[in-house]
Amino acid sequence: MLPPDTYAGRVVLITGGGTGLGKAMALEFARLGAAIVIASRKPEHVAAGVEAVRMIGGRAIALPLDVRSPEQVKACFDAAEEALGPVDVLVNNAAGNFPVAAQELSANGWRAVTDIVLDGTFFCSQEFARRRVGQGGGGAVLNISVAYAQGGAPGHAHSAAAKAGVLSLTETLAVEWAPDGIRVNALTPGLFPHQDHSTDMRAQRPEGYEAEWRRIPALRVGQTHELGWAATYLCSPFAAYLTGHNFVLDGAERLRRSLRMPEFVPIRAQMAAVRERSATLGGKDEF
Ligand code: NAP
Repeated sequence: MLPPDTYAGRVVLITGGGTGLGKAMALEFARLGAAIVIASRKPEHVAAGVEAVRMIGGRAIALPLDVRSPEQVKACFDAAEEALGPVDVLVNNAAGNFPVAAQELSANGWRAVTDIVLDGTFFCSQEFARRRVGQGGGGAVLNISVAYAQGGAPGHAHSAAAKAGVLSLTETLAVEWAPDGIRVNALTPGLFPHQDHSTDMRAQRPEGYEAEWRRIPALRVGQTHELGWAATYLCSPFAAYLTGHNFVLDGAERLRRSLRMPEFVPIRAQMAAVRERSATLGGKDEF
């Protein structure tokens, strides 16, 4: 969609860029000439992201990062700058999530998700802006959100609250940093199946992610490269006047209405079924 050299000479840092949607976005930025920094906690994840970019002839480095730690965030930007030069684009993609009824959510579970999603997005964005303001030349921040950040999500109180906070940050920071030429947008994916979904998340989709197309007005799920196309547009010079926006890419899923609502099932009943399926799939994931 964009000219092949749109990101030539640019450095793009993607948190959680070694798996799922982060990896898919890394590939599209790399195809358009960017040097990619893949940053997350697990060495096998960042290595997989770097390998995928190299397979298409792109340039990428792997850096260790827990977005919950401002010190690690600073060290990661230092290392990225030393290896590739200043970071021009930051994609706040890292997230953790697991389904749980609100009454049963532990304090640790709440903190793990909100720390990664909300605190991590803020720490990375702040570090990015501090540097870009000093270096000049503006830049772009892209925050990956979810549709249920608006309207809530039974079984995902922690994730929905944190992502709603991310949408608020998107708007606040867009205004604060606009005079410095730093644009801040959100990208909200609908359903985008990929190979790296956790066991807990898969347990919510008993017929598999692909079968979910029946619930989507566009009659299909999203393809991960389409998310990459949206991300690369939003951070490119072709979107130079676009900031503080939440770009939803979901085949109209969020607008779906029926004449009659489906039967209401309380979240604790839903969770019992999810737990059973999760056990069948091989147990609980760590966050
Ligand atoms: P995923 O494969 O589970 O990716 C999450 C990534 O975040 C992993 O690479 C993980 O790497 C990283 N991460 C987790 N905690 C971290 C931490 N503390 N510090 C640094 N990195 C951390 O999930 P996904 O499906 O690709 O989702 C990517 C984004 O899209 C998320 O923001 C999610 O909310 C959003 N989203 C996805 C969908 C979908 O259909 N898939 C729909 C709507 C929104 P490490 O384990 O190596 O740290």
